[in-house]
Amino acid sequence: LSLNDTPWTRSTCAYCGVGCGVLLRNTALGLEVKGDPDHPANKGRLCSKGSALAETVGLEGRLLAPEIHGRPADWDQALDLVATRFKETIAAHGPDSVAFYVSGQLLTEDYYLVNKLAKGFIGTANIDTNSRLCMASTVAGHKRAFGTDTVPGTYDDLEEADLIVLTGSNLAWCHPVLYQRIMAAKAARPEMKIIVIDPRRTASCDQAELHLALKPGTDVALFNSLLAEIARRGAVDPKFEPHIAGLDEAVGNAEMDDPAVTGLSPEEIARFHDLWIGTQKVVTIFSQGVNQSSAGADKVNAILNCHLATGRIGLPGCGPFSVTGQPNAMGGREVGGLANMLACHLDLENADHRAAVRSFWDAPEMPVAAGLKAVDMFRAIGEGKIKAVWIIHTNPVVSMPDADRVAEALKGCDFVVVSDVTRATDTARLAHVLLPAAGWGEKNGTVTNSDRTISRQRPALPIPGEAREDWRQIAEVGRRMGWPRAFDYEHPAEIFREYAALSHVAARFGRDFDISGFESLSQSDYDALEPTRWPVSATRQGGRFFADGTFFTPDGRARALAVTYRAPAAKTEKRYPLRLNTGRIRDQWHTMTRTGKTARLSAHLGEPFVEIHPEDAAAKGIKPADLVRLTSPTGQGIFRALITEATRKGDVFAPIHWTGETAPSARVDALVASVTDPVSGQPESKAAVVRADRF
Ligand code: SF4
Repeated sequence: LSLNDTPWTRSTCAYCGVGCGVLLRNTALGLEVKGDPDHPANKGRLCSKGSALAETVGLEGRLLAPEIHGRPADWDQALDLVATRFKETIAAHGPDSVAFYVSGQLLTEDYYLVNKLAKGFIGTANIDTNSRLCMASTVAGHKRAFGTDTVPGTYDDLEEADLIVLTGSNLAWCHPVLYQRIMAAKAARPEMKIIVIDPRRTASCDQAELHLALKPGTDVALFNSLLAEIARRGAVDPKFEPHIAGLDEAVGNAEMDDPAVTGLSPEEIARFHDLWIGTQKVVTIFSQGVNQSSAGADKVNAILNCHLATGRIGLPGCGPFSVTGQPNAMGGREVGGLANMLACHLDLENADHRAAVRSFWDAPEMPVAAGLKAVDMFRAIGEGKIKAVWIIHTNPVVSMPDADRVAEALKGCDFVVVSDVTRATDTARLAHVLLPAAGWGEKNGTVTNSDRTISRQRPALPIPGEAREDWRQIAEVGRRMGWPRAFDYEHPAEIFREYAALSHVAARFGRDFDISGFESLSQSDYDALEPTRWPVSATRQGGRFFADGTFFTPDGRARALAVTYRAPAAKTEKRYPLRLNTGRIRDQWHTMTRTGKTARLSAHLGEPFVEIHPEDAAAKGIKPADLVRLTSPTGQGIFRALITEATRKGDVFAPIHWTGETAPSARVDALVASVTDPVSGQPESKAAVVRADRF
């Protein structure tokens, strides 16, 4: 083949939940990547991170062979040791003495299998995912309102809306291709309006009609004021109202909240009410600014209440829309990746659901109660209750709140296994066994994006060294622990087919997630699978949910939740007078193990920084580009001062990406306390309290 004849492979981007399709080809000149014009998520577009994917697949820093206690080992030694130590620990201390901490980077087949191993065969629900840090509040909010964790709409709704409300979402930087789609729609229909609700002025405000720079954590009060105003103006949809339970109580609570706590002026709030209530086609997009909160689930329900009350859900250009962080956060939700869920949106704590899954898997054990959520899991490791943990494709020593304590917990743990592509992450350094994993561009499987579209990730590169796919590692350990038949797979298509067949079982419980149309998929059909939005069954294909007013609750009605504003858990005080917000920057991803490999992406913002308001900086004698020490009750870090009025007085912002390797003293999650939402277990990563001093 000449270079130009090398065929392109259709795959999916490695990064965010937009789930853009990419075309890959590996030639003598190296990997080439471009946007897939036929993928419905991006229609050929890519953002800066996606378009730099080819520059991030080099082998420097790769983990290429198993290691035991820092020494090279062969696969049999490593897998035998993992299986033996897990079995011994379970025999001595019970199944809940082991745990798995996994990731939205896993493909659906990997995710399904590790959940099957933990929940079905080991008999522990101590498996949680870094998606707990990302969208657990949305899962809880959806389930409370709809009965299931269902995203009602599709990406097309973002283009069809007349009003887009971005709340707690810097879409321009964090989901750039969706922002590009909205910008293109706005260019074609300039009357389309955008409202941004965010304490910071971000790039997403550039084209906004209105920026509401509310006080951090006051979203419930703002959306409650909207719900109260909807009721006051008689804007509740009379045709949809019979499909909602609890609306009167929700409105009653909403009326008691005082919107003044938002710090917004009455005029700003009235403008928001007028635009929202006066526009039929509204999409409210929400993301980490809503989720990462000790009141995250209530924030989600406050938003859902407004869409339910007005019947603006499941219709073209209408609906609440959660955008997920990672490429397969949605797939993880679907396979039951969270400690309180089972595959196919079944509930672990529902005896009928549990029995159905147990029977389908022919499983010897099933836990009867939810396992430990991420923060509690690492606490239990620190307390010695969990004695063996397998961490797959995530770096909790950087990304968990109270990150220094997470490091201490892992240092004291009897047995830590880490599967990763990178050899020397802050977490991998603490592992007793390191298992080299295949990475993006090498793996074969499926992912689900934020609008329920299942896409294939296909390999275009050979798997280097002795690395192996995650599903293969998990199946090997399952077989060695004594379940050869249950973990007898040769190809990810077999796992996907089994998962689809399980969704057939789940459908009889009236669940939303149904991909039973794939249960007879051949391997060649799997290889050729086109991006497909679920459900995929004999009776339903893709589309929107809930326009007909039928929900997945026992009585088929949605629930409006009576929620009340609660302030962030940590209070500012004399010693810690500033509110710390954390988040992403445009060109970096997570802890930079991939994006950090290309100088091009570091050219945008090359070092850890803290945004600080000019008056707060002046009060501390901080000048532009000074080094600043941030100190919180849990830790401290050094950041470059970026003095800007984009950040409210009294607030500071710092990015999450820099790690022990790239900037030893700028691990921002060391500053964040491990306070969580009582409903969702999601940490409050956007409302820590700190002090800023010139360094
Ligand atoms: Fe990848 Fe997200 Fe960028 Fe699309 S928007 S190219 S999925 S990082």
